[in-house]
Amino acid sequence: MRIVVFAGGTGAAKFLRGLVRIVDPAGLTVVANTGDDLDWWGLHVSPDLDTVCYELAGLLDEQRGWGRAYESFNCRDAMADLGKAAWFSLGDKDLATHLYRTERLRQGARLSEVTAELCQRLNVRSKVLPMTDDPVRTVVTMDDGDVPFQEFFVHRRHTGVVHDVRFEGSILAIPAPGVLKAIASADLIVMAPSNPVTSIGPILSVPGISQQMEDTNAPVIAISPIIGAEAFSGPAAQLMAMRGWPASAVGIATAYNSFLDVLLCDTADEHLRDEIERLGPRPVFTDIRISGTSAASRLAQEVVACRP
Ligand code: GDP
Repeated sequence: MRIVVFAGGTGAAKFLRGLVRIVDPAGLTVVANTGDDLDWWGLHVSPDLDTVCYELAGLLDEQRGWGRAYESFNCRDAMADLGKAAWFSLGDKDLATHLYRTERLRQGARLSEVTAELCQRLNVRSKVLPMTDDPVRTVVTMDDGDVPFQEFFVHRRHTGVVHDVRFEGSILAIPAPGVLKAIASADLIVMAPSNPVTSIGPILSVPGISQQMEDTNAPVIAISPIIGAEAFSGPAAQLMAMRGWPASAVGIATAYNSFLDVLLCDTADEHLRDEIERLGPRPVFTDIRISGTSAASRLAQEVVACRP
């Protein structure tokens, strides 16, 4: 079965942990957000691509939800000693990925090529595609002006009023090679339980991707990253409200309204059934908490089983 997963970072990784245990990983294509990418200490860092690749390689630090397991942070501490900003933590082993990527990009390789090389080196059997090879950067407008996404998310711990989120450069971006074809030829497309504004939003902002989602014959299933009015983690509820969407599973149905067939929501949200159905998708109520590998596998089984 050819499955395409739209992915941010931590929420997507939790879901993928289960999915690769119940389907052939070779049939899986992950399209990952690169709006979070940043230049840090002169290196090109792609946090969501790396979270996905590390997860699929069995290397992710599952407690933190980012970076590699069994990691040390000697370089970060030494950079802090040199007076450099160190609020964005890169582990020592993780640094190898960013050094490799930055060198290859400087040699003229495309991000999608570098990602494929990294996946091969890390023995990842699935295909991981950046949404685009072009620079797209998520910018958050706050009371004191525009800040890059990681400044908002990590440095400011996603506190403060957000007036807008935009994806700089996306208007000129083209989908990375293989993205549109994967969507068109998929048997199933899954929107991971990721932030719909800052993780999936940038992917859908790349011209051509939303249209291909509307045109595909594949069923599209989303997993809500929200129970009630609360996200499991991060600013999803706050940012959805900023977009004018209900901060609940109804907002997820609103965000993906033009192509969504099925929405997996928590059993605690059964009272939202009518509202979701009115928007179009069929709601399926289950336990959407991914508390470990077996919960991830069970949820993945349910996703595959509820294909229309
Ligand atoms: P980020 O780049 O790390 O923010 O990556 P994502 O957007 O993929 O992950 C964050 C989202 O994952 C948040 O909106 C969370 O609510 C969601 N999330 C985290 N843990 C869980 C879980 O156990 N179940 C579900 N359904 N969503 C989760």
